[in-house]
Amino acid sequence: MRRYLLSVLASLSFVAASTVLVAQSAPMPANAPYKDARLAPEKRVADLLGRMTIEEKATLLSGAGWMESPAIDRLGISSIHMADGPMGVRSWLGSSATTSVANPAVKVETTSFPSGLAMAATWDTELVGREGQAIAQEVKALGRDMILGPTVNINRVPLWGRNFEGYGEDPYLSARLGVAYIEAVQAEGVIPSVKHFAANNEEFERHRIDAHIDPRTLHEIYLPDFKAAVQEANVWTVMSAYNKLNGTYCAENAPLLTDILKKEFGFKGFVISDWGSTYSTAATVNAGMDLEMPGGAPMKAMISSPRSQLSGNSGGWLEADKVLAEVKAGHITEATLDDNVGRILRVIFVSGLFDHPHATGAAVDTPAQQSVARQGATEGIVLLKNAGSLLPLDPAKVHSIAVIGPNAAIARTGGGGSSLVRPKYAVAPLDGIREHSVPVTYALGVGMEGEDPAQDTPEARAKLLKEAVDAAAKADVAVVVVGRFAKLEGESFDVKTMDLPAGQNELIEAVEHANPHTIVVLNTGDPVTMTKWIDRTPGLVEMWYGGQEGGHALASVLFGDANPSGKLPVSFPKEWKDSPAAANYPGENLKVNYAEGIYVGYRYFDTKNVEPQFPFGFGLSYTSFEYSGLSVMPRKVAGDSPVEVSLKVKNTGSRAGAEVVQLYVHDGHAKIDRPLRELKGFRRVELKAGETKTVQFTLDRAALSYWSPEKKDWTADPGTFEIQVGASSRDIRLRAPLELER
Ligand code: BGC
Repeated sequence: MRRYLLSVLASLSFVAASTVLVAQSAPMPANAPYKDARLAPEKRVADLLGRMTIEEKATLLSGAGWMESPAIDRLGISSIHMADGPMGVRSWLGSSATTSVANPAVKVETTSFPSGLAMAATWDTELVGREGQAIAQEVKALGRDMILGPTVNINRVPLWGRNFEGYGEDPYLSARLGVAYIEAVQAEGVIPSVKHFAANNEEFERHRIDAHIDPRTLHEIYLPDFKAAVQEANVWTVMSAYNKLNGTYCAENAPLLTDILKKEFGFKGFVISDWGSTYSTAATVNAGMDLEMPGGAPMKAMISSPRSQLSGNSGGWLEADKVLAEVKAGHITEATLDDNVGRILRVIFVSGLFDHPHATGAAVDTPAQQSVARQGATEGIVLLKNAGSLLPLDPAKVHSIAVIGPNAAIARTGGGGSSLVRPKYAVAPLDGIREHSVPVTYALGVGMEGEDPAQDTPEARAKLLKEAVDAAAKADVAVVVVGRFAKLEGESFDVKTMDLPAGQNELIEAVEHANPHTIVVLNTGDPVTMTKWIDRTPGLVEMWYGGQEGGHALASVLFGDANPSGKLPVSFPKEWKDSPAAANYPGENLKVNYAEGIYVGYRYFDTKNVEPQFPFGFGLSYTSFEYSGLSVMPRKVAGDSPVEVSLKVKNTGSRAGAEVVQLYVHDGHAKIDRPLRELKGFRRVELKAGETKTVQFTLDRAALSYWSPEKKDWTADPGTFEIQVGASSRDIRLRAPLELER
């Protein structure tokens, strides 16, 4: 590293003209104030900045490798070692590639946690916190310092290739889960990076697309989870997005990075670029970009590769010589440079990285970490249909099961791209089901689209389908596990269609014809079209991408060892054309207009009265819950006074279960159009059979407010609101008025 730094410095021939003398580059005394961990971070930053040459400062703005920030040995500033997330630690030594076959190139194996959307379906902030903690512990054990997650981009369209990474369609839910993850990671002294700021809601032309979003929609839908990350979790870093927002690349978007993030939200950490998303030097630095990634040789290799050039990747703009040239030309002030560098240094101090480098070598993929992964996968499973109480399967009555489908025997743990983790083991649905005592037969039924050409001839297809139908006909119950895999759903491309991959609808129809006791299991990161078979399907389960424990989790729900409690964090449209943004996707001439505005997800379906296949917040249980006694205190409120909401929830069935109680606010009197209802609270409550618990919420003025384009601020109009509490956005069980006086 020292040699690298010297070579950078040597190449800067004009630096002699700088007022800062290279003579300053002597080693620092041990008692230099910035080395004193007892001092406030701001003081340490100021002291350290005062000791740095301008060349050293410039060096800090651009990465030193694929996943490393630059180090300055003279000052004791070590590199920040990063690793991809968010649902586990991805190998930073090359691609994780596919997780289902042995790949000797993958040198790092870690716990594969459920995808973000699966975790969102748990609505369990405490569990998401434990997941964040487990991931952070693996980060440290492996000698890394930073995890590139969580992803909190809103699911705007069901075809976004990265929907599975994020926390769904609602900004409140996404904010609560993002905050839980970030707080837990930071509590371990590991640096998270909430991403991708902002409006990375499609992968189509992600390096060129220009998202046009009005200010109200931005503030109400696409920014609240980032704002919560900054203001509630004090997040240490934010990753900018690849795309343009309102005409300017996010990496050089001053209104976004400086005006909104740093000034309006009060962000004190540093902004890191998404990998290869910078296109200028002065404009980028001045807009508030603090650290460009990647850097060094890997960056050069990336930007010169034909693939990156074709996709529109760009980088190397914040290398020291380019930054210094702009400083010299007067296009970047030293004060700006100090602000950018100061932010990076502050995080190095605040996170503890400067004072206590992480101890490495602890075990990863420990039983404790595996159990968090399993609990997440289990709680995230959503039971969508259960006609005739086909589920849970009763081994006393079910004597044979045919397990069928291209997602049955292979553990499809996650979607594709930078979030894909290579685990030491992964449990496929078939493996999990086989651990139970009922005899199982297996048939592939149809090859996964694009996976094996040998399975894709007319003869092979006919043979596979016949085997599946025969197996289904002979069994008491058929379980058909369908869905996508990392090459059909992942980063850098959108999903081609909401339909299941080739042949899977036909497989479901044929199996259902052969066996009326068919359970369809979806192993997807997005809603799929089900209109061809849903009416005849008695059992339907969404297992998402459940990580390495997905197969165990599924089997425990099918056999009733676990009572399903997951709820949809995203509405399932019946068809693509019903999706709120279908007419405004993917955009034309590299511009996508978010013309649907704030009407995303259930805000659209409920307000415009379009019936979804399954609504936001929906999920069945093997027990039943009764809601009663809604109290809103006080009934009249003014200013910022809090409102206490409480109700009782009773488990009226015969087995223990968990209910996710959802609180929505309805505003029918505002001066502006508002969605029919908006989520402003939720609680996951565990209840034994017959048990009743009181559930409480505190609402503040923010819960009643909308972002006013006129005032350019949040506001609430006095009048009568309705507090609605229910089991999904379309299953409101209790209502009570709340009057805002002023
Ligand atoms: C992704 C980021 C990721 C980064 C580093 C980018 O392509 O968009 O989410 O953290 O690569 O792998």
